[in-house]
Amino acid sequence: MPGLAPRGILVRLMSPARILDGKATAQVVRASVKRSAEQLIARGVRPGLAVVLVGEDPASHVYVRNKDRAAQEAGFEVRTLRLDASTGQAELLARVGELNRDESVHGILVQLPLPRGLDADAVVRAIDPAKDVDGLTPANVAALVAGSEGLVPCTPAGCLELLDRYEVALEGARAVVVGRSMLVGKPVALLLLARNATVTIAHSRTRDLAGVCRTADVLVVAVGRPQLVRGDWIRPGAAVLDVGINRADDGKLAGDVAFEEARERAGWITPVPGGVGPMTIAMLLANTAKAAARARGIELVDDGRVVRSDA
Ligand code: NAD
Repeated sequence: MPGLAPRGILVRLMSPARILDGKATAQVVRASVKRSAEQLIARGVRPGLAVVLVGEDPASHVYVRNKDRAAQEAGFEVRTLRLDASTGQAELLARVGELNRDESVHGILVQLPLPRGLDADAVVRAIDPAKDVDGLTPANVAALVAGSEGLVPCTPAGCLELLDRYEVALEGARAVVVGRSMLVGKPVALLLLARNATVTIAHSRTRDLAGVCRTADVLVVAVGRPQLVRGDWIRPGAAVLDVGINRADDGKLAGDVAFEEARERAGWITPVPGGVGPMTIAMLLANTAKAAARARGIELVDDGRVVRSDA
């Protein structure tokens, strides 16, 4: 009936959002990656991940420990190179070169940020694109832009995986991505575009950010400002992915979206913590298994990704 929403939609609008549970979904992806690793090991290839950590940044040490543990749990061979903060650019490039040549290493991750004085772009560019499991080398960025096969950055890939696992429709959907970084905003926008969403990228200079967000069926926020997105910025029924990680004075983590307000209007929403964050490591593992399989020309039966019905 024109002008009246069907009853099901009214009920959905009035009930709090469904949680996009990144913790549970990441477990499913990780279990699937573990099966892939078993397939590969049975064929004589143990997926190998090398993590390069330079300096003493405490947050980086925590991230690397988590990645290391997750990769070991998946059955991978993990090598962590812990280098002194005084390591020079030439030395770091030489270490990356060694890992590029090492056939037992299928994935290389250089933990960012690097200490001052090191050129992170040059280091990332030195990684063999076939081993670039963070998806940050120019070759993988180009593949993403062209829509060809490459390794996709982990956090953006995790966002899409979550949307797919919860069967959020993307074809023809209006998607707004807030944030335009190379790490999150831009690749998420390209992935959504590749899935036939109509994509707007908003950023620090966007006029009427609230109005732009209100148009979104799918809203991805990757800024790094707590409570930036308020509940009344959310289009009723929208899927909201909060990528932001902010640490409050009390030490608690919060995203960029005012969660309690937003969940009253959204159809789906990620919590922080427990939303996009856990998906990032899961997709790193999936990329490493994929890189190992490709290096040996092996086709994985189950590589941790869903088979998409609208592909
Ligand atoms: P970034 O600083 O590189 O980019 C932030 C973006 O936000 C910029 O493009 C900027 O234009 C935009 N922005 C800044 N202020 C704005 C405003 N007032 N209104 C609209 N846009 C604004 O950050 P990033 O690396 O893309 O990370 C973004 C957030 O996501 C951070 O909180 C980061 O910690 C988090 N993050 C989480 C994961 C994860 O695994 N969950 C991974 C990477 C980053």
